[in-house]
Amino acid sequence: KTRREKTVETPYEVSSSSRPESEWCENIDYFMKKRLSVWCPVPGALWKSGKIQLISGEEASIKLSDGTVIEASTEELLPANPYSFEDIHDLMRLSYLNEPSVLHNLECRFCHDMVYSKAGPLLIAINPFKDVHLYGDEVITAYRQKLTNEPHVYATADNAYNQMMRDGENQSIIISGESGAGKTEAARLAVEYLVALCDDCSGLKEKILKASHILEAFGNAKTSINDNSSRFGRFTEILFSTKGKLRGAKIQTYLPEKMRVVKRAKGERSYHIFYQLCAGAPLSLKDRLNLKMANQYQYLNQSECLEIRSVDDASKFHMLMEAMDIVQISKEDQGHIFDLLAAVLWLGNISFNEVDTESCIEVALDEALAAAARMIGCSTQELISVLSSPKDGTSEKLTLQEAISIRDGLARSIYASLFDWLLELINKSLEVDKQETGRSISILDICGFESFQKNSFEQLCINYGSERLQQHFARHLLTIEQEAYDMDGLDWIKVDYEDNHECLNLFERKSLGLFSLLDEESYLPAATDSTFLNKLKQHLIGNPCFKEDRNGFFKIRHFTGEVLYDSSGFLDKNRDTLHANFSQLLSSSCLLSRFAPSVLNQSQVPTSFASELQAPDSQKQLVGSKYKDQLFNLMQQLEHTKPHFILCIRPNSEQLPSIYRKELVLQQLRYSGVLEIVAIARVSYPTQMAHEEFARRYVSLLLEKNVPQDPLDISVAVLRHCNVLPEMYQVGYKKLYMRAGLIDMLEAMKKLV
Ligand code: ATP
Ligand code: MG
Repeated sequence: KTRREKTVETPYEVSSSSRPESEWCENIDYFMKKRLSVWCPVPGALWKSGKIQLISGEEASIKLSDGTVIEASTEELLPANPYSFEDIHDLMRLSYLNEPSVLHNLECRFCHDMVYSKAGPLLIAINPFKDVHLYGDEVITAYRQKLTNEPHVYATADNAYNQMMRDGENQSIIISGESGAGKTEAARLAVEYLVALCDDCSGLKEKILKASHILEAFGNAKTSINDNSSRFGRFTEILFSTKGKLRGAKIQTYLPEKMRVVKRAKGERSYHIFYQLCAGAPLSLKDRLNLKMANQYQYLNQSECLEIRSVDDASKFHMLMEAMDIVQISKEDQGHIFDLLAAVLWLGNISFNEVDTESCIEVALDEALAAAARMIGCSTQELISVLSSPKDGTSEKLTLQEAISIRDGLARSIYASLFDWLLELINKSLEVDKQETGRSISILDICGFESFQKNSFEQLCINYGSERLQQHFARHLLTIEQEAYDMDGLDWIKVDYEDNHECLNLFERKSLGLFSLLDEESYLPAATDSTFLNKLKQHLIGNPCFKEDRNGFFKIRHFTGEVLYDSSGFLDKNRDTLHANFSQLLSSSCLLSRFAPSVLNQSQVPTSFASELQAPDSQKQLVGSKYKDQLFNLMQQLEHTKPHFILCIRPNSEQLPSIYRKELVLQQLRYSGVLEIVAIARVSYPTQMAHEEFARRYVSLLLEKNVPQDPLDISVAVLRHCNVLPEMYQVGYKKLYMRAGLIDMLEAMKKLV
């Protein structure tokens, strides 16, 4: 069976991909005689280590470290590494590479708060869910001065910076992992390190750090998995001059989750900023916004979760105000931001009365309506007209459900435009003169893979994003290198792995991919979620990653495992159309007109909501395919950089410190292909250089004695002259392939010449 099948069907079983190197089977007797430890599968505990007492035929009896003796087939045993290897920091250096050894090594390190390890070129970060005292100025200095070689996000960032300076090439730090695995924290640490490398120019360093803080308040929320879950993807470019001086930053965001503002699962929260505002606004601001406690707003109290364990929203709000000052968001703009937040909250409290027998509705004339109109900057009449207008061109009355849809749509749109506008303000503040830049290091932190009890369009998009990223990850860490070796004629033992092209295909195929089918249905006025699902069944059933399920549901087999999606709401969310009267409101509210035009430009076609939905104009790009295109562009951008990868791992689902659940960790190691990455790294050549480039850089080492003409010959002459061991390199037709450490050695020798 392949690794993926194992992961999907029986996620916690011992995988066949953990088979030891073939000679191990012949060494089993040796392990018994020398009383060396082996890993033995134990039901319910994955593997335990023990010593072989007896072998008879295919069966062995193993004495486990707790004294119990169990029988196992010799086929299932795996070699354990000597005790002294327990906390080795690069999995590449394990004598025996197999799943139990890797799991054990990471666990030993985790127990000693060594949460970072290397898997060849990949940094593995296991979320400690507690302060492990590995951060701050002193530690940054230690990495800058190379006083330590322990793996760390700082070390990865340092490496990226040095390579950018050495090779004149832009770099990227790509962070992957499930929701709650620690990506955003890792991204923060990487940025912290990079900005600390440079002398502070006009407070830029502080601005960059605080910008991220502000975006988190507006774009992160508590979910059932993560108390600080990013509900948008973020691509931060740190810009440097060609001399390596910090010059500025630019942030792009992806697909902020709009629906959360008005609706979400029980036990989750809306965006942090709402609770922070309610808890921490100073009296004068509270008065101006007519602000109540969070529990008095329908948009906040509906999910029965107002607080986060050990988080003080009020003090977070004070930090946010400070951050806004540092990022130089003017007091006037800050005021507008708070007005719009209050407008959203008050919109949620607007209610509708059903009028007599015609079952039509009217907007309740109460405090909520007045406050919302005041915050938006329009008259109550104008707001009423937006909230109760019938479908365009008809005199039909709205039903209650439709009116609520319009209200919620307005609130969502206001919040989404506010987010975009805030990002604009931040980017302006971090902007630099283009001529002064030339180099960059980008940090990518997108929403992590999610599988809840109920998964909707938002999860589908997030999980598709994870698939895209996984493809980039696997291509760089597993494929490109092997392809290059093959093409350049190197002597090479191929490492196999299962890629995720089938699932990507399911989403992306031009005419019959999930996104194009979704678009097709979204453009049809009469289409419903159920006609959409039928379409999926009709066209995707042949794809092994798609499965039908009970009514209204379908399953997708992602690289991480299977996820069940509820198709209800897909069309609406994909269309994401604005109410026609939003533009009317826009023209009457000077506040909205200031920040919302960009939103209107995206959705100029007037449509109405709910069951009255009209299909959008076919010119308008819909949410799913727009996200697909954005990701495509992002990947293109990344292709022009030298990538550094960080894989974050969630050791438990409860967000608790010191708990390492082997099954959960193993699952993440498996679907990310960590063992395969290590296997390739063990035999790979991380530094590769064209012979021309190598010759240009290192010909001076030949001291002008017998310098050959051909670059390839120069490469070979340099290596021989420097007595480099043959196992440290291979000579390809076009490039020289070097093992880790060789280039540093040559650089050091160059300094001595
Ligand atoms: P999502 O995909 O949902 O945004 P994520 O991968 O970005 O998840 P984070 O928000 O970075 O996850 O981490 C979740 C929580 O784990 C943090 O809020 C923090 O409490 C804790 N955490 C993460 N990394 C560390 C760390 N290095 N040290 C201490 N705690 C950490
Ligand atoms: Mg995050």
